[in-house]
Amino acid sequence: MPDTPSPIRNWSDSLETRPAALARPTSVEEVVEIVRDRARYPSPLRPMGSYHSTTACAVADGGTLVDMRGLNRVLEITETRVRAEAGAEYIDVAEALRARGLEFHVALEIGNITLGSAACCATKDGSYPGEAGQAGAFVSAVRMVDAEGELVEIGEDQPELFRALRSSYGLMGVIVEVTFRVRRAKPVAVVHRNYSTQAFLDALPELRAREGSLAFYIFPFADRITAQLRGPAKARAWRNPFVWRVRNFGVAYAVPLFVRALALVPGRGLRLAVMRAFDAMSRLLLALTLRARSTRASDQITRYRYRPKLACFTFNIWAFPEQDYPDTLRAYQTFCRAHLEVHGYRPELLTVGYRVSPSQHALLSYSFEGPVLTIDPVGFAGPDWDRFNAAFNIFCHSHGGKPLLNQSPALTPEQVEAAFGERLAQQRAAVREGDPSGRFTNPHFARLLRLD
Ligand SMILES: Cc1cc2nc3c(=O)[nH]c(=O)nc-3n(C[C@H](O)[C@H](O)[C@H](O)COP(=O)(O)OP(=O)(O)OC[C@H]3O[C@@H](n4cnc5c(N)ncnc54)[C@H](O)[C@@H]3O)c2cc1C
Repeated sequence: MPDTPSPIRNWSDSLETRPAALARPTSVEEVVEIVRDRARYPSPLRPMGSYHSTTACAVADGGTLVDMRGLNRVLEITETRVRAEAGAEYIDVAEALRARGLEFHVALEIGNITLGSAACCATKDGSYPGEAGQAGAFVSAVRMVDAEGELVEIGEDQPELFRALRSSYGLMGVIVEVTFRVRRAKPVAVVHRNYSTQAFLDALPELRAREGSLAFYIFPFADRITAQLRGPAKARAWRNPFVWRVRNFGVAYAVPLFVRALALVPGRGLRLAVMRAFDAMSRLLLALTLRARSTRASDQITRYRYRPKLACFTFNIWAFPEQDYPDTLRAYQTFCRAHLEVHGYRPELLTVGYRVSPSQHALLSYSFEGPVLTIDPVGFAGPDWDRFNAAFNIFCHSHGGKPLLNQSPALTPEQVEAAFGERLAQQRAAVREGDPSGRFTNPHFARLLRLD
């Protein structure tokens, strides 16, 4: 029997869903049974990974939530491929690969993402030259239970269908197994460099031309950028096992908990001054401590814990064409300052950016048309954040941005339509063809993709 669940919240604590049934399958046969049995498992039926998404993509109010984490076995590892069940978390599969001297092509910072979600949703990471920064680009096949409850296999031999599937967000079926291309592990060097915004923009052509990836932290109130530059490790350099652990501890615990504590500082003026001082200290620490001539790439993958709840944060991300980014970045800083002045709120944590190479692996890929740079403000869930988000979405839409439907909350259908145009129509057609009865369609996607 399905559980009658209590409300389920996402990791960021920004969303809640109240499904009528919660299923926790541990086998493919059970998934088939759940999809077929519409009386016991009412629609909308939404698969769920570890719900680290910041949008209502997995919301199944009055329907069925299928928690896929019971299907988590690694099934096969070869020199070039890993095949695993869809509920396996990226970090666990990365550890199995590491034991054989292998690694994923994209070392996502988020270790909790399940392979099923990585296969059909947007992901982000700084790209290395010639490589996509999107994990889904390295998925070569999936097995999926479709809307009729049939087990089907889709792979690179069906390119158009596969392209739609890789941005289907669980609307075309419940993925039960994923095959990823992998490679021999290659050590990476890392360094952080501080810039003024103008100096960073001046240095962008040179940073892009490097043999490495570019991610960065944006400090809109200090007009400063800290760039994270990864690249090939120096031959025979000592492999530093600490540097990513320090970073991971910082992002998952130390920084969010410290910034939460700043709420206790009396008076808005003083609090903002302390936040600015903390930002300055972060830049210094990043540049001084997070550098190493050689590290294991997979050490970047972080396991975010569910406790303490106060360490949980949320974010919003949009991607912008590379050629327009200098203007967009300056405008973002102005937008943040204006928002603070009018509403007295700034996202509590910093803003992240990535440079992501072109990739047409998915119909709704945000770098389908060319290289992009992103803007990813990070804060704590609540009414102030919600108001910032709505304004940020308007800003991004007006600057030609593209959202990620699992990571850009509070979107409007107009914003999604403007971002993806004809490709959205193709995605809609593929979803309708794969699921004509709307078994997997929740109101969130019905509205955003205009599936009604
Ligand atoms: C602290 C934090 C850090 C993050 N860092 C990064 C990062 O560095 N890089 C990055 O790319 N993202 C990052 N994210 C975002 C996160 O990786 C994505 O939102 C991802 O989709 C979450 O995966 P999940 O397994 O939790 O899926 P969920 O959030 O549970 O679901 C996401 C979507 O996938 C669908 N889905 C899930 N499983 C299946 C399945 N088996 N079959 C079909 N559909 C399925 C769901 O229905 C839903 O539409 C971060 C999020 C948080 C909270």
